[in-house]
Amino acid sequence: METVVVGAGFAGSVVAERLASAGRQVLVIDRRPHVGGNAYDETDAAGVLVHRYGPHIFHTQSDEVFDYLSRFTDWRPYHHRVLASVKGRLYPIPINLDTVNRLYGLELDEAGVAAHYERVREHRDPIRTAEDVVLNAVGRDLYETFFRSYTRKQWGRDPSELASRVTSRIPVRTSRDDRYFADRHQAMPLHGFTAMFERMLHHRNIRLELGVEWEEVRARPWRGPVVYSGPLDAYFGCPLGRLPYRSLRFEHEHLPGVERFQPVGVVNYPSENDFTRITEFKHLTGQVHPGTSIVREYSQAEGDPYYPVHDPESDRLAAAYGELAARERDTMFIGRLGRFTYLNMDQVVAAALQAAGRLL
Ligand code: FAD
Ligand code: UDP
Repeated sequence: METVVVGAGFAGSVVAERLASAGRQVLVIDRRPHVGGNAYDETDAAGVLVHRYGPHIFHTQSDEVFDYLSRFTDWRPYHHRVLASVKGRLYPIPINLDTVNRLYGLELDEAGVAAHYERVREHRDPIRTAEDVVLNAVGRDLYETFFRSYTRKQWGRDPSELASRVTSRIPVRTSRDDRYFADRHQAMPLHGFTAMFERMLHHRNIRLELGVEWEEVRARPWRGPVVYSGPLDAYFGCPLGRLPYRSLRFEHEHLPGVERFQPVGVVNYPSENDFTRITEFKHLTGQVHPGTSIVREYSQAEGDPYYPVHDPESDRLAAAYGELAARERDTMFIGRLGRFTYLNMDQVVAAALQAAGRLL
Protein backbone atom coordinates (compact mmCIF):
# COMPACT_ATOMS: atom_id res chain seq x y z
CA MET A 1 0.00 0.00 0.00
CA GLU A 2 1.30 3.39 -1.01
CA THR A 3 1.08 6.48 1.19
CA VAL A 4 0.21 9.61 -0.75
CA VAL A 5 1.92 12.80 0.41
CA VAL A 6 0.34 15.97 -0.94
CA GLY A 7 2.90 18.78 -1.18
CA ALA A 8 6.67 18.56 -1.67
CA GLY A 9 7.54 21.42 0.71
CA PHE A 10 9.24 20.93 4.07
CA ALA A 11 6.24 19.23 5.65
CA GLY A 12 5.59 16.72 2.86
CA SER A 13 9.23 16.03 2.02
CA VAL A 14 10.24 15.29 5.62
CA VAL A 15 7.32 12.91 6.15
CA ALA A 16 7.98 11.22 2.81
CA GLU A 17 11.67 10.75 3.56
CA ARG A 18 10.99 9.30 7.01
CA LEU A 19 8.34 6.88 5.74
CA ALA A 20 10.48 5.81 2.78
CA SER A 21 13.49 5.21 5.02
CA ALA A 22 11.30 3.00 7.21
CA GLY A 23 10.42 0.88 4.17
CA ARG A 24 7.08 2.41 3.17
CA GLN A 25 6.18 3.10 -0.46
CA VAL A 26 5.40 6.78 -0.90
CA LEU A 27 3.92 8.83 -3.72
CA VAL A 28 4.71 12.55 -3.35
CA ILE A 29 2.68 14.93 -5.48
CA ASP A 30 2.77 18.68 -5.89
CA ARG A 31 0.74 20.97 -8.12
CA ARG A 32 3.86 23.03 -8.76
CA PRO A 33 6.43 21.82 -11.29
CA HIS A 34 9.16 21.66 -8.63
CA VAL A 35 9.94 20.39 -5.12
CA GLY A 36 10.69 22.55 -2.07
CA GLY A 37 7.35 24.33 -1.68
CA ASN A 38 7.83 27.98 -0.78
CA ALA A 39 11.48 27.36 0.06
CA TYR A 40 12.25 26.52 -3.60
CA ASP A 41 15.30 28.28 -5.00
CA GLU A 42 16.68 28.37 -8.54
CA THR A 43 19.29 30.10 -10.66
CA ASP A 44 17.84 33.04 -12.59
CA ALA A 45 18.66 33.89 -16.22
CA ALA A 46 21.76 35.81 -15.12
CA GLY A 47 23.05 32.91 -13.03
CA VAL A 48 22.19 34.23 -9.57
CA LEU A 49 20.61 31.84 -7.04
CA VAL A 50 17.25 33.35 -6.02
CA HIS A 51 14.30 32.25 -3.88
CA ARG A 52 11.31 32.33 -6.18
CA TYR A 53 8.81 32.74 -3.32
CA GLY A 54 10.65 35.33 -1.26
CA PRO A 55 13.60 35.16 1.14
CA HIS A 56 13.95 32.00 3.20
CA ILE A 57 16.50 32.06 5.99
CA PHE A 58 17.00 28.93 8.01
CA HIS A 59 17.29 29.27 11.78
CA THR A 60 16.49 26.96 14.68
CA GLN A 61 17.08 26.28 18.33
CA SER A 62 16.56 22.58 17.73
CA ASP A 63 19.63 20.35 17.42
CA GLU A 64 17.34 17.56 16.30
CA VAL A 65 15.99 19.54 13.35
CA PHE A 66 19.42 20.86 12.39
CA ASP A 67 21.04 17.40 12.60
CA TYR A 68 18.24 15.85 10.61
CA LEU A 69 18.52 18.36 7.74
CA SER A 70 22.32 18.10 7.86
CA ARG A 71 21.96 14.60 6.42
CA PHE A 72 20.90 16.23 3.16
CA THR A 73 23.00 19.36 2.98
CA ASP A 74 26.14 21.14 4.12
CA TRP A 75 25.67 24.63 5.42
CA ARG A 76 26.94 28.15 5.01
CA PRO A 77 26.73 30.06 8.29
CA TYR A 78 24.62 33.17 7.74
CA HIS A 79 23.37 35.73 10.24
CA HIS A 80 20.44 37.55 8.72
CA ARG A 81 20.25 41.32 9.10
CA VAL A 82 17.35 43.60 8.27
CA LEU A 83 17.16 47.39 8.06
CA ALA A 84 14.00 49.49 7.87
CA SER A 85 13.92 52.49 5.58
CA VAL A 86 12.20 55.51 7.15
CA LYS A 87 12.33 58.89 5.41
CA GLY A 88 15.41 57.81 3.50
CA ARG A 89 17.40 56.61 6.53
CA LEU A 90 18.06 53.00 7.51
CA TYR A 91 17.46 51.60 11.01
CA PRO A 92 18.14 48.14 12.48
CA ILE A 93 15.13 45.82 12.85
CA PRO A 94 14.35 44.28 15.36
CA ILE A 95 14.37 47.54 17.30
CA ASN A 96 17.60 47.74 19.29
CA LEU A 97 19.81 50.32 21.02
CA ASP A 98 21.04 51.76 17.71
CA THR A 99 17.52 52.01 16.28
CA VAL A 100 16.45 54.23 19.17
CA ASN A 101 19.65 56.30 19.27
CA ARG A 102 19.63 56.90 15.51
CA LEU A 103 15.94 57.71 15.31
CA TYR A 104 15.93 60.23 18.15
CA GLY A 105 19.54 61.46 17.96
CA LEU A 106 20.33 60.07 21.41
CA GLU A 107 23.38 58.39 22.90
CA LEU A 108 21.74 56.02 25.33
CA ASP A 109 23.47 52.94 26.70
CA GLU A 110 21.70 49.63 27.42
CA ALA A 111 20.32 50.78 30.77
CA GLY A 112 19.28 54.07 29.19
CA VAL A 113 17.34 52.43 26.39
CA ALA A 114 15.67 50.04 28.83
CA ALA A 115 14.57 53.09 30.85
CA HIS A 116 13.38 54.70 27.60
CA TYR A 117 11.20 51.68 26.72
CA GLU A 118 9.85 51.68 30.26
CA ARG A 119 8.94 55.38 29.97
CA VAL A 120 7.23 55.20 26.57
CA ARG A 121 5.59 51.77 26.68
CA GLU A 122 1.82 51.51 27.01
CA HIS A 123 0.94 48.78 29.47
CA ARG A 124 -1.43 46.23 28.01
CA ASP A 125 -2.90 43.42 30.08
CA PRO A 126 -3.97 41.07 28.68
CA ILE A 127 -2.00 41.19 25.46
CA ARG A 128 -4.49 40.12 22.82
CA THR A 129 -3.54 41.72 19.55
CA ALA A 130 -0.49 42.35 17.39
CA GLU A 131 -0.85 46.02 18.32
CA ASP A 132 -0.88 45.25 22.08
CA VAL A 133 2.43 43.38 21.77
CA VAL A 134 4.30 46.32 20.28
CA LEU A 135 2.67 49.12 22.28
CA ASN A 136 3.31 47.17 25.46
CA ALA A 137 7.00 46.82 24.59
CA VAL A 138 8.03 50.08 22.93
CA GLY A 139 5.11 52.53 22.95
CA ARG A 140 3.29 54.41 20.23
CA ASP A 141 5.99 56.26 18.34
CA LEU A 142 8.16 53.23 17.60
CA TYR A 143 5.00 51.25 16.88
CA GLU A 144 3.79 53.79 14.33
CA THR A 145 7.23 54.21 12.77
CA PHE A 146 8.10 50.56 12.26
CA PHE A 147 5.04 48.35 12.75
CA ARG A 148 1.67 49.91 12.03
CA SER A 149 1.88 50.65 8.31
CA TYR A 150 4.15 47.70 7.57
CA THR A 151 1.61 45.37 9.13
CA ARG A 152 -1.30 47.02 7.34
CA LYS A 153 0.53 46.57 4.05
CA GLN A 154 1.55 42.99 4.80
CA TRP A 155 -1.75 41.73 6.16
CA GLY A 156 -4.34 44.16 4.76
CA ARG A 157 -5.55 44.66 8.36
CA ASP A 158 -4.71 46.90 11.24
CA PRO A 159 -2.46 45.27 13.89
CA SER A 160 -5.30 45.79 16.38
CA GLU A 161 -7.32 43.22 14.37
CA LEU A 162 -4.58 40.57 14.26
CA ALA A 163 -3.58 37.97 16.84
CA SER A 164 -0.61 38.75 19.10
CA ARG A 165 1.49 35.96 17.59
CA VAL A 166 1.86 37.97 14.36
CA THR A 167 4.21 40.50 15.96
CA SER A 168 5.40 38.62 19.06
CA ARG A 169 7.79 36.81 16.70
CA ILE A 170 9.93 39.95 16.64
CA PRO A 171 11.97 40.71 19.78
CA VAL A 172 12.82 44.15 21.18
CA ARG A 173 16.42 44.57 22.25
CA THR A 174 18.36 46.82 24.57
CA SER A 175 21.68 45.60 23.12
CA ARG A 176 23.28 46.49 19.78
CA ASP A 177 22.69 42.96 18.47
CA ASP A 178 21.33 43.56 14.97
CA ARG A 179 20.81 39.97 13.89
CA TYR A 180 17.23 39.24 12.89
CA PHE A 181 17.23 35.89 14.67
CA ALA A 182 18.79 34.83 17.94
CA ASP A 183 18.66 31.06 17.35
CA ARG A 184 21.60 28.74 18.00
CA HIS A 185 21.71 27.48 14.42
CA GLN A 186 21.54 30.08 11.64
CA ALA A 187 22.68 28.86 8.26
CA MET A 188 21.76 28.47 4.61
CA PRO A 189 21.98 25.17 2.71
CA LEU A 190 25.36 25.41 0.97
CA HIS A 191 24.01 24.49 -2.47
CA GLY A 192 20.54 25.89 -1.91
CA PHE A 193 17.22 24.57 -0.62
CA THR A 194 16.21 22.82 -3.83
CA ALA A 195 19.37 20.70 -3.86
CA MET A 196 18.64 19.72 -0.25
CA PHE A 197 15.06 18.70 -1.13
CA GLU A 198 16.25 16.70 -4.12
CA ARG A 199 18.56 14.68 -1.89
CA MET A 200 15.79 14.19 0.66
CA LEU A 201 13.36 12.87 -1.93
CA HIS A 202 15.88 10.78 -3.88
CA HIS A 203 14.91 7.41 -2.47
CA ARG A 204 13.95 4.17 -4.13
CA ASN A 205 10.71 4.04 -2.12
CA ILE A 206 9.62 7.52 -3.22
CA ARG A 207 7.79 8.27 -6.45
CA LEU A 208 7.44 11.92 -7.33
CA GLU A 209 4.70 13.39 -9.52
CA LEU A 210 5.02 17.10 -10.10
CA GLY A 211 2.47 19.42 -11.71
CA VAL A 212 -0.30 17.21 -10.32
CA GLU A 213 -3.35 18.34 -8.34
CA TRP A 214 -4.55 16.43 -5.29
CA GLU A 215 -8.07 16.35 -6.74
CA GLU A 216 -6.71 14.46 -9.73
CA VAL A 217 -4.97 11.85 -7.56
CA ARG A 218 -7.94 11.62 -5.22
CA ALA A 219 -10.12 10.55 -8.14
CA ARG A 220 -7.82 7.63 -8.96
CA PRO A 221 -8.99 4.13 -7.98
CA TRP A 222 -6.77 3.66 -4.96
CA ARG A 223 -7.05 3.58 -1.20
CA GLY A 224 -4.31 4.30 1.32
CA PRO A 225 -3.14 6.76 3.92
CA VAL A 226 -2.86 10.41 2.88
CA VAL A 227 -0.58 13.04 4.36
CA TYR A 228 -1.86 16.41 3.23
CA SER A 229 0.05 19.70 3.42
CA GLY A 230 -2.21 21.84 1.23
CA PRO A 231 -4.70 24.41 2.56
CA LEU A 232 -6.91 22.89 5.26
CA ASP A 233 -10.21 24.35 3.99
CA ALA A 234 -9.58 23.38 0.36
CA TYR A 235 -9.28 19.69 1.30
CA PHE A 236 -12.95 19.71 2.28
CA GLY A 237 -14.11 22.01 -0.52
CA CYS A 238 -14.54 24.95 1.92
CA PRO A 239 -18.01 23.95 3.26
CA LEU A 240 -17.66 26.25 6.30
CA GLY A 241 -16.33 29.19 4.29
CA ARG A 242 -12.82 30.08 3.21
CA LEU A 243 -9.94 30.39 5.63
CA PRO A 244 -8.05 33.63 5.03
CA TYR A 245 -4.59 33.05 3.60
CA ARG A 246 -2.58 36.12 2.62
CA SER A 247 -0.91 36.04 -0.77
CA LEU A 248 2.10 37.79 -2.26
CA ARG A 249 3.24 38.98 -5.65
CA PHE A 250 6.99 38.77 -6.25
CA GLU A 251 8.72 41.18 -8.58
CA HIS A 252 12.15 39.74 -9.37
CA GLU A 253 14.80 41.87 -11.03
CA HIS A 254 18.40 41.34 -12.08
CA LEU A 255 20.68 44.39 -12.00
CA PRO A 256 23.60 43.76 -14.33
CA GLY A 257 26.88 45.32 -13.31
CA VAL A 258 25.58 46.23 -9.84
CA GLU A 259 27.67 44.22 -7.44
CA ARG A 260 25.80 45.29 -4.32
CA PHE A 261 22.37 46.93 -4.24
CA GLN A 262 21.77 47.36 -0.49
CA PRO A 263 23.86 46.94 2.68
CA VAL A 264 22.00 43.91 4.09
CA GLY A 265 19.92 40.96 2.86
CA VAL A 266 16.55 42.61 3.47
CA VAL A 267 15.41 46.22 3.66
CA ASN A 268 11.87 46.78 4.97
CA TYR A 269 9.75 49.71 3.83
CA PRO A 270 7.24 50.30 6.64
CA SER A 271 5.48 53.32 5.09
CA GLU A 272 7.27 54.07 1.82
CA ASN A 273 6.34 52.28 -1.44
CA ASP A 274 3.65 49.69 -2.17
CA PHE A 275 5.97 46.77 -1.56
CA THR A 276 6.86 45.63 1.95
CA ARG A 277 10.52 44.75 1.48
CA ILE A 278 13.40 44.23 -0.93
CA THR A 279 15.68 41.21 -0.66
CA GLU A 280 19.11 41.00 -2.26
CA PHE A 281 19.90 37.32 -2.51
CA LYS A 282 23.69 37.45 -2.70
CA HIS A 283 23.80 38.44 0.98
CA LEU A 284 21.92 35.26 1.87
CA THR A 285 23.84 32.88 -0.33
CA GLY A 286 27.31 34.44 -0.36
CA GLN A 287 27.40 34.04 -4.12
CA VAL A 288 30.01 36.07 -5.99
CA HIS A 289 28.66 37.57 -9.25
CA PRO A 290 29.31 40.83 -11.12
CA GLY A 291 25.58 41.65 -11.05
CA THR A 292 22.93 41.20 -8.39
CA SER A 293 19.34 39.95 -8.15
CA ILE A 294 16.63 41.38 -5.95
CA VAL A 295 12.95 40.75 -5.26
CA ARG A 296 10.24 43.17 -4.17
CA GLU A 297 7.28 41.70 -2.28
CA TYR A 298 3.77 43.04 -2.76
CA SER A 299 1.18 41.66 -0.39
CA GLN A 300 -2.29 40.85 -1.73
CA ALA A 301 -5.51 39.08 -0.77
CA GLU A 302 -5.94 36.83 -3.80
CA GLY A 303 -3.50 34.32 -5.25
CA ASP A 304 -1.46 31.40 -3.96
CA PRO A 305 -1.86 31.01 -0.19
CA TYR A 306 1.32 31.96 1.70
CA TYR A 307 0.42 33.20 5.16
CA PRO A 308 -2.44 32.03 7.40
CA VAL A 309 -4.08 35.23 8.67
CA HIS A 310 -4.54 34.87 12.41
CA ASP A 311 -7.43 36.79 13.94
CA PRO A 312 -10.13 35.62 16.38
CA GLU A 313 -12.59 34.82 13.58
CA SER A 314 -10.12 32.83 11.45
CA ASP A 315 -8.82 30.95 14.47
CA ARG A 316 -12.43 29.91 15.27
CA LEU A 317 -13.00 28.80 11.69
CA ALA A 318 -9.68 26.92 11.65
CA ALA A 319 -10.72 25.10 14.85
CA ALA A 320 -13.99 24.07 13.15
CA TYR A 321 -12.04 22.73 10.18
CA GLY A 322 -9.72 21.07 12.67
CA GLU A 323 -12.71 19.10 13.95
CA LEU A 324 -13.52 17.95 10.43
CA ALA A 325 -9.87 17.01 9.97
CA ALA A 326 -9.85 14.96 13.18
CA ARG A 327 -12.68 12.84 11.75
CA GLU A 328 -10.74 12.01 8.58
CA ARG A 329 -9.40 8.63 9.65
CA ASP A 330 -7.03 8.10 6.73
CA THR A 331 -5.70 11.61 6.28
CA MET A 332 -3.15 13.45 8.37
CA PHE A 333 -2.95 17.24 8.03
CA ILE A 334 0.49 18.80 8.28
CA GLY A 335 2.45 21.96 7.50
CA ARG A 336 1.77 25.65 7.48
CA LEU A 337 -1.29 25.43 5.23
CA GLY A 338 -2.60 22.10 6.50
CA ARG A 339 -2.49 23.20 10.15
CA PHE A 340 -3.38 26.82 9.33
CA THR A 341 -0.55 28.03 11.56
CA TYR A 342 2.13 30.68 10.95
CA LEU A 343 5.12 28.33 11.25
CA ASN A 344 8.76 28.77 10.34
CA MET A 345 10.60 26.11 8.36
CA ASP A 346 12.22 24.54 11.42
CA GLN A 347 8.89 24.31 13.23
CA VAL A 348 7.40 22.61 10.18
CA VAL A 349 10.30 20.12 10.12
CA ALA A 350 9.95 19.39 13.84
CA ALA A 351 6.20 18.82 13.48
CA ALA A 352 6.71 16.66 10.37
CA LEU A 353 9.24 14.46 12.18
CA GLN A 354 6.67 13.94 14.92
CA ALA A 355 3.90 13.26 12.40
CA ALA A 356 6.06 10.65 10.68
CA GLY A 357 6.77 9.09 14.06
CA ARG A 358 3.03 8.77 14.69
CA LEU A 359 2.42 7.23 11.27
CA LEU A 360 5.15 4.66 11.83
P1 FAD B 1 4.69 24.82 1.53
O1 FAD B 1 6.13 25.16 1.39
O2 FAD B 1 3.68 25.86 1.19
O3 FAD B 1 4.40 23.50 0.69
C1 FAD B 1 3.11 23.06 0.43
C2 FAD B 1 3.11 22.47 -0.97
O4 FAD B 1 1.84 21.83 -1.21
C3 FAD B 1 3.27 23.52 -2.05
O5 FAD B 1 4.40 23.25 -2.84
C4 FAD B 1 1.98 23.44 -2.84
O6 FAD B 1 2.16 23.63 -4.24
C5 FAD B 1 1.49 22.04 -2.53
N1 FAD B 1 0.03 21.92 -2.64
C6 FAD B 1 -0.90 22.63 -1.96
N2 FAD B 1 -2.14 22.23 -2.30
C7 FAD B 1 -1.99 21.24 -3.23
C8 FAD B 1 -2.91 20.45 -3.96
N3 FAD B 1 -4.23 20.58 -3.81
N4 FAD B 1 -2.42 19.55 -4.84
C9 FAD B 1 -1.07 19.42 -5.01
N5 FAD B 1 -0.16 20.13 -4.32
C10 FAD B 1 -0.60 21.05 -3.45
N6 FAD B 1 10.38 30.32 7.31
C11 FAD B 1 11.60 30.40 7.92
O7 FAD B 1 11.92 29.55 8.76
N7 FAD B 1 12.49 31.40 7.61
C12 FAD B 1 12.20 32.34 6.68
O8 FAD B 1 13.03 33.23 6.42
C13 FAD B 1 10.94 32.30 6.03
N8 FAD B 1 10.61 33.22 5.11
C14 FAD B 1 9.42 33.14 4.48
C15 FAD B 1 9.13 34.09 3.50
C16 FAD B 1 7.93 34.03 2.81
C17 FAD B 1 7.65 35.05 1.75
C18 FAD B 1 6.98 33.02 3.12
C19 FAD B 1 5.68 32.94 2.38
C20 FAD B 1 7.27 32.08 4.08
C21 FAD B 1 8.48 32.12 4.78
N9 FAD B 1 8.81 31.17 5.74
C22 FAD B 1 10.04 31.24 6.37
C23 FAD B 1 7.90 30.06 6.08
C24 FAD B 1 8.20 28.82 5.23
O9 FAD B 1 7.91 29.12 3.87
C25 FAD B 1 7.28 27.70 5.70
O10 FAD B 1 7.49 27.42 7.07
C26 FAD B 1 7.51 26.39 4.94
O11 FAD B 1 7.77 26.57 3.58
C27 FAD B 1 6.27 25.55 5.11
O12 FAD B 1 6.42 24.32 4.48
P2 FAD B 1 5.13 23.48 4.11
O13 FAD B 1 5.60 22.23 3.50
O14 FAD B 1 4.22 23.44 5.27
O15 FAD B 1 4.34 24.40 3.04
N1 UDP C 1 6.65 43.61 11.23
C1 UDP C 1 6.52 44.97 11.08
N2 UDP C 1 7.61 45.72 10.72
C2 UDP C 1 8.82 45.15 10.48
C3 UDP C 1 8.95 43.76 10.62
C4 UDP C 1 7.84 43.01 10.99
O1 UDP C 1 5.44 45.52 11.27
O2 UDP C 1 9.77 45.88 10.14
C5 UDP C 1 5.46 42.82 11.64
C6 UDP C 1 4.60 42.44 10.45
O3 UDP C 1 3.26 42.38 10.86
C7 UDP C 1 5.14 41.07 10.11
C8 UDP C 1 5.35 40.50 11.51
O4 UDP C 1 5.85 41.62 12.26
O5 UDP C 1 4.22 40.32 9.37
C9 UDP C 1 6.29 39.35 11.59
O6 UDP C 1 7.50 39.70 10.95
P1 UDP C 1 8.42 38.58 10.29
O7 UDP C 1 9.64 39.22 9.75
O8 UDP C 1 8.58 37.46 11.24
O9 UDP C 1 7.51 38.13 9.07
P2 UDP C 1 7.75 37.02 7.94
O10 UDP C 1 9.13 36.50 8.09
O11 UDP C 1 6.72 35.99 8.21
O12 UDP C 1 7.52 37.74 6.68
